[in-house]
Amino acid sequence: MFGWLGRSAARGILTTRYPDAPPTPSEAPVSAHAPEPRPAVPISPNAVAGCPVRAIAPDGVDQGRCIRCARCLAQGFEFSGPVALATAKRPDRPEGPGAILGGAAPLARLGRSIHVFLVDVGSCNACNLEVLSIAHPQYDASRLGIFFTNSPRHADVLLVVGVPTEAMVEPLRRAYDAIPAPKAVVATGACAIRGGVFEGTPGLRSGVDEIVPVDLYVPGCPPPPVAVLDALLRLIGRERTEAPT
Ligand code: SF4
Ligand code: SF4
Repeated sequence: MFGWLGRSAARGILTTRYPDAPPTPSEAPVSAHAPEPRPAVPISPNAVAGCPVRAIAPDGVDQGRCIRCARCLAQGFEFSGPVALATAKRPDRPEGPGAILGGAAPLARLGRSIHVFLVDVGSCNACNLEVLSIAHPQYDASRLGIFFTNSPRHADVLLVVGVPTEAMVEPLRRAYDAIPAPKAVVATGACAIRGGVFEGTPGLRSGVDEIVPVDLYVPGCPPPPVAVLDALLRLIGRERTEAPT
């Protein structure tokens, strides 16, 4: 026991200080930053043609589609933008829900604690791993009042990962209906936002918001755990006031 205590004292506290401090480079790796065209380099047709998910448009990058594959880096892009955290708008759907960044948080009246029901509607498991890692000691979401629950009836948040398969449409609707109001839905990862690399595949839906209303989108493939934490904190109005770098 004393050996264990000694090792713990020598290591110090390993839990992230985020959101009280910006995420460390390991918590927000280079690929967690949004790809942006280098100012001096116009967006080339090669970059547009080389993007495997058609995320590059003449006016920038559709963050909901981007899978951070880095193919555009050779064409004048770099991962230099801010860490791509949660957003309330799907870039390709300007008529979608208005941005809540800096505005009212849908679950603010719940105070300082929320319960999350995680549904995988067809992920490769990477989004699952990143989401669940917020419960591990390094991120320790419980210190922030964020808990996972196994029942939608006990949940405040429906957090969805993966590209929706037809078989999961009805279970996802039922899970949404079972959550008591007030509730919020977070689409996590490129697949949940608009199908990711599977967009357009027969038998799959192009995004969770074709099935249930989505309050927040968390871009990435997969998004880093700090982005998931940021989304959940935004729902209760406890996000960082300054964007992490
Ligand atoms: S990182 Fe990959 S997916 Fe994202 S814009 Fe560049 S080429 Fe497209
Ligand atoms: S967004 Fe990427 S990491 Fe997440 S389920 Fe889809 S393919 Fe996997």
